[in-house]
Amino acid sequence: MKIVKTIKEIREIVLQQQKKGRTIGLVPTMGYLHKGHLSLVEAARRNNDFIVMSIFVNPTQFGQNEDYDKYPRDLERDARLAEDAGVDVIFSPEVKEMYPEGYKTYVNVEGITEILCGKSRPGHFRGVTTIVCKLFNIVKPDRAYFGQKDAQQAAVIKKMVSDLNLDLEIVTCPIVREEDGLAMSSRNVYLDEQQRKSALILSKALFEAQRQVLEGERNKQKIRDNILKMLHTEKTAEVDYVEIVNADTLEEIEEIKGKVLIALAVRFGTTRLIDNVIVEV
Ligand code: AMP
Repeated sequence: MKIVKTIKEIREIVLQQQKKGRTIGLVPTMGYLHKGHLSLVEAARRNNDFIVMSIFVNPTQFGQNEDYDKYPRDLERDARLAEDAGVDVIFSPEVKEMYPEGYKTYVNVEGITEILCGKSRPGHFRGVTTIVCKLFNIVKPDRAYFGQKDAQQAAVIKKMVSDLNLDLEIVTCPIVREEDGLAMSSRNVYLDEQQRKSALILSKALFEAQRQVLEGERNKQKIRDNILKMLHTEKTAEVDYVEIVNADTLEEIEEIKGKVLIALAVRFGTTRLIDNVIVEV
């Protein structure tokens, strides 16, 4: 497995594959890989001949006071895991390769980027859509793979692809969890022992909500209140949001009907965790 740093190199490698008629699957990541990332590779391998993984901690999607500098990075370890999972090439550019001096162009999806995570992370999705659009233009994949873990990100990217007529398929893969239910995340390494225990309340509250809906509860406010009540049993949990929205459009809903996304963001100290479940009734 090769690791390349330049746009020129990755383009050349992909072009050679495409000349042989091979399909390209792209798995965009910020590295510090875990089983969630590797599940995307597995999905990509099922439907594509050649797998490109990008590893790039994208500065434009981090706010001023966020964790860009301390975001965990370990390319050597990532390379081993990626190779074992069946990645064919890693594209891991330096920041100046993606944003050279004088860089001025951004992609912005309106509306759905301003709710949920967009409220407390202004500019975040503009950074995400910009880098993902650039990666799509550089790699020209047939399919790109994203995790349901970042439900809003997946919805925003699908909207960008549709609005900009980008010629690829977006595939969303299920959330991979630790055995005890915590959604896997590179940011979980920030949690101390106590916070790690407390963080279990996220998945517990979501699963309980899912159960209540499946057992017939349709009152959105009731479900939301129950989740908040459970989250507040953990004294150190600072709730950013708990929202129940249409799973495809992320639009507000009156009552629970159809495919619904129950999503939340909670802070433990300086660490912000997100999680969600989809329920269909
Ligand atoms: P990140 O490196 O955190 O930017 O994540 C890269 C991709 O992996 C995104 O599409 C995420 O949604 C996805 N991902 C992260 N964590 C998980 C998880 N626990 N399960 C499934 N996909 C995930």
